[in-house]
Amino acid sequence: RPVLLLFRHDLRLSDNLALCAAAETGRPIVAAFILDEESEGARPPGGARRWWLHHSLAALTKDLGKHGLKLVLRRGSMARTALALADETRACTVYWNRRYDPAGITADADLKARLRDRGIEAQSFAGHLLHEPWRLKTGSGGPYRVFTPFWRALLDSVHPRPPADRPETLTPCREATAGDRLEDWNLVPTKPDWATGLRETWEPGEAGARKRLAAFLDGAGAGYKARRDLMAEAGTSALSPHLAHGEITPFQIWQALEGGSGIADGDLQAFRREIGWREFCWHLLFHNPKLATENVNRDFDAFPWRGNDTALRHWQRGETGYPVVDAAMRQLWQTGWMHNRARMVVASFLVKHLGIHWREGEAWFWDTLVDADPASNPANWQWVAGSGADAAPFFRIFNPVLQGQKFDPEGDYVRRYVPELDALPDKHLHQPWKAPEEARGKAGVKLGDTYPHPLVDHRAAREHALDAYQSVKNAG
Ligand code: FAD
Repeated sequence: RPVLLLFRHDLRLSDNLALCAAAETGRPIVAAFILDEESEGARPPGGARRWWLHHSLAALTKDLGKHGLKLVLRRGSMARTALALADETRACTVYWNRRYDPAGITADADLKARLRDRGIEAQSFAGHLLHEPWRLKTGSGGPYRVFTPFWRALLDSVHPRPPADRPETLTPCREATAGDRLEDWNLVPTKPDWATGLRETWEPGEAGARKRLAAFLDGAGAGYKARRDLMAEAGTSALSPHLAHGEITPFQIWQALEGGSGIADGDLQAFRREIGWREFCWHLLFHNPKLATENVNRDFDAFPWRGNDTALRHWQRGETGYPVVDAAMRQLWQTGWMHNRARMVVASFLVKHLGIHWREGEAWFWDTLVDADPASNPANWQWVAGSGADAAPFFRIFNPVLQGQKFDPEGDYVRRYVPELDALPDKHLHQPWKAPEEARGKAGVKLGDTYPHPLVDHRAAREHALDAYQSVKNAG
């Protein structure tokens, strides 16, 4: 009888403990991927992640094919569909790598119980995170709410294991199991095909992840600490979508950074710390299952948000009149990714300048980011909004002009994504409304025509935001 191996957010063959365990049994393996949009609380992937998923599944199918294995594709609730597959294939064992999002945890626990009721062995393995979120506890026994002590505790108590090798032999199952055709899932856009920029930017799949890591070790890794905030540079790893889809594990990254990477200690530590933020976000999600929908700090429930559909649309389209915000939002739309510094700036702008609920921004990112992640996305939105567990204080309001001048000093980022401002001299680039009429004329910039007037005035918006925050504080 075969082993049923379920792939989910672990679309890789290397460092895949469930796959290794399946290989070790020596039994034939039925490999399956279940697209679950039905289980209670399951959050369907947004458009950009669907595009990625399509290509990542295609890559995994190819990789498994080299071992003679087929990837069976099914759609439906995890427990019901996996159970049906176990029945059909007469599997004696079902293996998978653990998920940590609330709906995934519930669905997997349900599946495990049902399999055991039928006398089928079920086992899950770790791999998505360096730490198991329920293990790390503060001195008083509760979850961590602040990053630095969390990270210190993780570094003290977790010693990342070496990544597991890709099994040399996998035994395919002789009997065919019916599955869907990937093309029939319609994960990639056709009319209109908005994925050109994504295709040009990314190579989904395990091989693509390995190339990104190698490129980082050879290039951007050195100088990471100094360059990671410069928006125009490829100064970060761009591993986030690969990590989100489990095409690479933090254990593989950790090992690659260890000894001999040639990257200076300060840069290594800064980079590891970012991996630590990912861990922390999952820790927060595990202990705050409603992270994507509810303020962690419930005082923020009283925040007087100014819902404004028109302003939201301008923000989404990159038409706010603030060049750095517009560049970032267009980078997101074109490539499915946005630089971290830019994410903080646009999130702050939406929440504080426009007074729009962070949930609107979180939802837009969920739909448009190839790395949209159930933990990092809401945790970071709440961090910027000030409503999170360990949040940036609300009164720290990014000035989009200063942020642009500091982190895009030559204006390359703005010019790349907002080409209508290309000819403006550097000194006016981040605030075209302040450029003399003549300079704008020469550059072919006509405010309100070729490029928008600023949607809000920075100073007035800041005052408004602080007043709104005061009302939360008074109510709290
Ligand atoms: P690098 O600088 O190379 O960092 C390496 C890895 O560390 C990243 O791949 C990522 O896994 C992790 N990391 C880095 N910064 C953070 C962070 N602040 N929080 C959590 N993990 C981090 N990241 C996501 O992966 N998915 C999201 O949906 C997401 N949404 C965000 C929303 C907002 C409003 C903000 C401010 C940040 C968000 N981030 C999210 C975090 C961060 O912006 C991205 O992880 C990072 O930009 C990815 O680029 P990189 O891989 O080149 O990062």
